[in-house]
Amino acid sequence: MTQFQENDVTEVWEEVLAKDEYRQAIQEIADTFPVKRSVSVKYNDIDLVNTDLAAYILDEPDICLPLGEKVIQAAMPPSWDSKNLVHLRIINLPHDMKVDIRKLRENHLGKLVAIEGLAKKVSSVKPRMTFARFECSRCGAEVWEKQSGMFIREPLMCPNTNGTCNKQANRFILDSKRCRFIDTQKIEIQENPEGLRGGAQPEKISGYVEDDIAGLLTAGNRITLNGIVRPVEKQDRDKSTIFEIYLDVLSVEFQQHEYDEINITDKDEFAIKEMSRDPLLFEHIVASIAPTIYGMTEVKQAIALQLFGGCHKVYDDGSTTRGDTHILLVGDPGVAKSQILRYMSNLAPRGIFASGKSASAAGLTAAAVKDDFGGDGYTLEAGALVLADKGLACIDELDKMSEQDRSSLHEAMESQKISVAKAGITATLQCRCSMLAAANPKQGRFDQDADTLSSQIELPPALISRFDLIFALTDTPNERHDREITQFILNVHRRGQALQHGDNEEIEGIDLKKIKEQTANVKPYYDQEKLRKYVAYSKRLTPVMTEGALKMIEDAFMKIRMDGMKHNAISITARQLEAYVRLSEASAKMRLSPRVEEVDAERAIKLIYYYLSKLAPKEGGGIDMDRLVSTNSNSSRNKMKVITGIISTQPNGMTFKEIKAVAEGENISSDELNTLIEKLVNAGTIYRDSEGVYKLV
Ligand code: ADP
Ligand code: MG
Repeated sequence: MTQFQENDVTEVWEEVLAKDEYRQAIQEIADTFPVKRSVSVKYNDIDLVNTDLAAYILDEPDICLPLGEKVIQAAMPPSWDSKNLVHLRIINLPHDMKVDIRKLRENHLGKLVAIEGLAKKVSSVKPRMTFARFECSRCGAEVWEKQSGMFIREPLMCPNTNGTCNKQANRFILDSKRCRFIDTQKIEIQENPEGLRGGAQPEKISGYVEDDIAGLLTAGNRITLNGIVRPVEKQDRDKSTIFEIYLDVLSVEFQQHEYDEINITDKDEFAIKEMSRDPLLFEHIVASIAPTIYGMTEVKQAIALQLFGGCHKVYDDGSTTRGDTHILLVGDPGVAKSQILRYMSNLAPRGIFASGKSASAAGLTAAAVKDDFGGDGYTLEAGALVLADKGLACIDELDKMSEQDRSSLHEAMESQKISVAKAGITATLQCRCSMLAAANPKQGRFDQDADTLSSQIELPPALISRFDLIFALTDTPNERHDREITQFILNVHRRGQALQHGDNEEIEGIDLKKIKEQTANVKPYYDQEKLRKYVAYSKRLTPVMTEGALKMIEDAFMKIRMDGMKHNAISITARQLEAYVRLSEASAKMRLSPRVEEVDAERAIKLIYYYLSKLAPKEGGGIDMDRLVSTNSNSSRNKMKVITGIISTQPNGMTFKEIKAVAEGENISSDELNTLIEKLVNAGTIYRDSEGVYKLV
């Protein structure tokens, strides 16, 4: 590494800052300070003037940057107060200067690096003293002391030569009203989920952003931080030789588009267009989703569409509707729900895996937690849905989520925003993500004949109704199916064993090559890299519905709705209508088609009908939506009416036995009667007197 003298560095800065763009920026500081306080210099512009020096800056930022700031200060008008801080912020560091948080080591200390990540926590902005103004208690002289550490540094002696104190050590009085302050903010960023290998926990680092760049960030932002890596003593231990590291942030760059992360070359584009012409595209994409999981075709189809997603829409009046689809998997333990979620969090761009019972305070949405600046400040912490902004949030064990999440989740799912208003922090965080969630039944096993879905899983009906598709996965013994799945799983494991052996290895009595060939069906049809690029590319499209597709969806929706009416049930609502639109849009995007056509409408119609007829069938035909979105199904509501009718015939009330005798004639079993009477008592429609007689309230 070439060594540089101060003069050389200053000369290079002078040359770089002489560029029109920077000259104007400096002039603007002179004219508008403190509105504008910094000059952002592109790394490449320094590189063009002197490559060696550009590299030297990365190595010795603490030497080079103050020299550059001096050059800026020198360009200020004569009336300029040198206590006005100006900043030289370097931006656009080269790609190879990016360091993963987990790879930060001792040799990075004091160096300028670029770190990419997600803002996990953002504290409130606090003032930090930069120059303290003291008065000498003896002669009254004014003494300024530059501040940098955690505690206020006092002057050692009075610099006043002609006062009465004559430069002696003295007491100094802090004049806090006239001290100089800048804003400071503590943030914590964590690694982007894309960079993580198989379920690794993301690493985090804290950073400080100061002055004009404080307060720009909110939790959940995807950013690149350019800054100097510094050591800091652990706070809780005295005089420890073990230090923590933090980032002294020099500049913040926001990521513009989610698909910027995925680099699509011209060659890729060619391959993507080629792939879109595959006549079995849909089947092949479905075959690329969790191929080691047997069956679950409809679930995989739904997830494939979810990956592409519908279109976010903004209307003339500024109102919006979400394009992201939400899918819920409920069912017995051990049917590979968690496995599918993990797989998808790896496959989907910006996928996040989290559990409803996560230990973090932010949980699924967001939280304001006490910050560690001391005092009463709060830090905003992003939860899983915020971190998955513009991606896929895979939430396992959704039913185990905290009370706080329970109350804020439906807003998060519908309007895709989370508002936090607590202790001086008011913030709106974006969570424009799709959600793939799994929930376990309350009683351990899923009962398909149960009255309503919310009697089976610990989720409020209002939340359930936010899902576009809900699948019940049951584990019912069935010899043929069980044998197939058993063979399948055993073969998956066998393939796993065989894959550990190279092509030329041999084991006596085993045909490794044959095993690999026979089990090739569990290899994804398209590899993850290719599929991810394809999905990223499709996000550029907003297909428009054809007349044919529109008519098909209209008819399918109206048919279910009319059927419901015939059976005196509330069958399907506008919420499901939106689901049809989103799923058909996703299907068109998958084909890279600018039009939503009849094939797309058909896919959406099939999937929605499949899940409704499985989860909300009405006795005697049709769909009873109340089985999904209410705590009482239509049939139990009708039966409750019958029971109150029976009781109302006797002004003095009836015993359970008496009600039972009449109810049997109405096809209400004794068990059912028990639960329904309990519901009626709880609802306050009837009551039980001290003699055990039921009466109307
Ligand atoms: P859940 O979350 O539904 O309780 P898991 O995802 O933990 O279940 O799955 C349990 C195990 O059973 C996993 O190792 C999974 O591979 C296996 N398994 C269950 N169903 C299937 C299936 N249909 N195909 C392949 N493996 C399966
Ligand atoms: Mg599980």
